[in-house]
Amino acid sequence: MKRKSTLFALIGLLFLFACKEKVEYGVSQQLANLRKQNVSNIEYSIYLDIPESETAAIPGRVELTFELAERINLPIDFRNADSCLLNISVNYRQLRTRIENGHIVIPKGYLYKGQNKISIDFLAGKTSLNRKGDYLFSLLVPDRASTVFPCFDQPNLKASFNLTLQTPQNWIAVGNAPLINKMETDTTTLWIFDKTYPISTYLFAFAAGRFQAIDCVSDSLKMTIYHRETDAQKVARNIKKVFELHQSAIKWLEDYTRINYPFQKLDVVLIPDFPYSGMEHPGAIFYRDSRILLDENPSVTQQLSQANLIAHEVSHQWFGNLVTMKWFNDVWLKEVFAGLMADKIVNPQYPKLNHQLSFVLSHYPRAYSVDRTGGANPIRQNLDNLLLAGTLYGDIIYHKAPIALQQLELMMGSEKFREGLNIYLKKFAYDNAGWSELIDIFDKLSSDDIKSWSKRWIDTPGMPAINVNLTNDKLIFTQTDSWLPMQFDIMLPIKTEYQTLTVKLTGKTCEIPLPNNVSTQKNIIVNSNGLGYGLYVAENHNLTLIQPDELTSNDLARASFFINLHELFLNHFIDSDTYFRYLANALTREKDSQIRNYLLNNLETAWWQFLDRTNRIILSQTLEETLSGLFKNQKIPADERKPAFLTYCRTIISPEATEFMQKIWAKEAQVKGITISENDYIDLSLQLAVRDIHDADSILQVQEERIQNADRLAKFRFVKRAATPDEALRDDFFHSLLDAQNRRPEPWVAEGLRLFFHPLRASHSIHYLNAALDLLPEIQQTNDIFFPKIWLDAVLYGHNSTEASRIVARWIKEHPQVSPNLKGKLLQSADPLFRAAGSK
Ligand SMILES: [Zn+2]
Repeated sequence: MKRKSTLFALIGLLFLFACKEKVEYGVSQQLANLRKQNVSNIEYSIYLDIPESETAAIPGRVELTFELAERINLPIDFRNADSCLLNISVNYRQLRTRIENGHIVIPKGYLYKGQNKISIDFLAGKTSLNRKGDYLFSLLVPDRASTVFPCFDQPNLKASFNLTLQTPQNWIAVGNAPLINKMETDTTTLWIFDKTYPISTYLFAFAAGRFQAIDCVSDSLKMTIYHRETDAQKVARNIKKVFELHQSAIKWLEDYTRINYPFQKLDVVLIPDFPYSGMEHPGAIFYRDSRILLDENPSVTQQLSQANLIAHEVSHQWFGNLVTMKWFNDVWLKEVFAGLMADKIVNPQYPKLNHQLSFVLSHYPRAYSVDRTGGANPIRQNLDNLLLAGTLYGDIIYHKAPIALQQLELMMGSEKFREGLNIYLKKFAYDNAGWSELIDIFDKLSSDDIKSWSKRWIDTPGMPAINVNLTNDKLIFTQTDSWLPMQFDIMLPIKTEYQTLTVKLTGKTCEIPLPNNVSTQKNIIVNSNGLGYGLYVAENHNLTLIQPDELTSNDLARASFFINLHELFLNHFIDSDTYFRYLANALTREKDSQIRNYLLNNLETAWWQFLDRTNRIILSQTLEETLSGLFKNQKIPADERKPAFLTYCRTIISPEATEFMQKIWAKEAQVKGITISENDYIDLSLQLAVRDIHDADSILQVQEERIQNADRLAKFRFVKRAATPDEALRDDFFHSLLDAQNRRPEPWVAEGLRLFFHPLRASHSIHYLNAALDLLPEIQQTNDIFFPKIWLDAVLYGHNSTEASRIVARWIKEHPQVSPNLKGKLLQSADPLFRAAGSK
């Protein structure tokens, strides 16, 4: 089989390139392999002339040098209109050619075996340069470098980049490498950056525009932080911490990996409404500014997530940037290690926090949110063409993979695990390697069979159900077919104490003999450290609904219980009314802030996604009393009370509560100890508007007048059209999104959509479900890699009716041609809707 398929692939290649057939759009694995075999020692010199005018073209020039092993017809990627290719010379000979299917094919007659030089004058594609008024930033992951300039756009053709930018005179520019020269005229500035170390095209980056620059210096690190925030106090409040977090992350990683920070410098660019939380460009990490510049009195969760995000992006400098995957099917690898390292880094900085608790709470619910659905995907997925790389990203990569790797580390022991990583990073530094290379290293170091472990955890989708059966003298665990090797703890009640026991499941079933003094008065707590992965169903003892006051005082065990309870609820072991009341009761008793926030989330999910209008009216008082009881409770620290207040603002429906919220917004009332930031006031105004109160439009008007910051104002003007009670205006908002130009910036669109499809407006927005789904394939082509899922989540979260469920099911049936990846995303996002409708 293997030989045969190789032969076919070879014939395919010969056919493709010998017959001058058009090269497939995007970068296929075939094309990538052909170039990897032949092209090496690549260096780009890129010049871009960025004009003052937002709409003017961006002319550029790239000089590309490389070595060629064999003379072949060589495709260079440039996904742009043919008119954007202005001039091309190959080894000093003019070449007349066209862009076809996103490639410029250089005939082999122009190329030499050995050293070659190609110069191309072009107009840069603007979509991935994200120009907004007086600034722009590149974002080229995973295969968008070739939309800006001609290049070999695949991760395993690393290159050095020499970047020169011409910008308007009063702009600032930052790139991957240090600035080596700057020249000014009356109207322009020329920025010449040093040659980068070898990096992949998706990591090449720059930002330019009107930014404030703050230099931070310590003995070990010099860093410039670029930002556009106008609230000087907010910047001042955060900047020192942000610098320290980067510094401590670097120090930790240097120690853990035994490799010094691998690039020339590290700067940070804080960008309003950056599409992701962060992007790890070597030497110039870009962040969404709101994730880094926190409001006053941030909650512990916000501080932790700020620290974790920074540690994540810094970890990528080693995991992803120094050693890069060969192909994007292994994108999960850089993500999982960045996540894993981030957790290891952040923990010691918050010694008072229970980190295993935050690991469990941040990863398990989100991993399950995909793995329980019909759209579940394995951690490692196939990828035939880089065009589809965006579809690989999601909660499985970011949340199941860390769980899997934690299990692997448990199995191998942390020293061997670290040793394996050290070998891997040293061996493949400034080069490419994937999961198979790492597994080989791990397998040699470990006595366990890492390869079959990997087949189950990494190559197979889905979460197992784990049946727990209690007999007189033993506990029997039986996993479903998608079983996973794993270990977790159980807590056995012995007299008045609990005794902890570690269970290792190495196969489908496992029996644990019980000591004969186990008390029958108390419950056995299964998966008490939360590390087990799956839905635990107890057959003959009541795991399902242990009352909150009977729950253990062990935070981790309690969190693990609540997570499992949520899965039991989604699998119809508990009805939504009972579950909602249970959560409300548990919330009033919960002492731990992280668990409380988790419960608040579940309460909000149950409220909007599982209760219908009638049930919400019946339970409205319970909801409001529970939440106001929390945020008014002076015994709880103010920063811990704010999430309850924000949940209250998003969920209340009674006229009294709405009036109270309006008073807060009008600054006529306040809650002692809770600070309302400008962003909160903006949210409040939008929440009031979707509740269709009679003066909603004037509230939006006043809110608009209150906003001073230009970036926030632009966003508000965009989003408020989706919140207004005027249905015709809302419809205009939705129709505007049919034009790809209007689907940016994406965080604005997502926020607008969530208002348009708000549960309180489901009866109107249901008529738009089909139109929103019809746009999906186009969104995948034109928008950013995470956006199809964000779009789907925003469109579907407000619906839980049988009718909506039918519309989505019918759409799936009538669109069999939708790519499996995209269909998977739809099944993931529609899962709560299907479950809610299924329970009626
Ligand atoms: Zn990452």
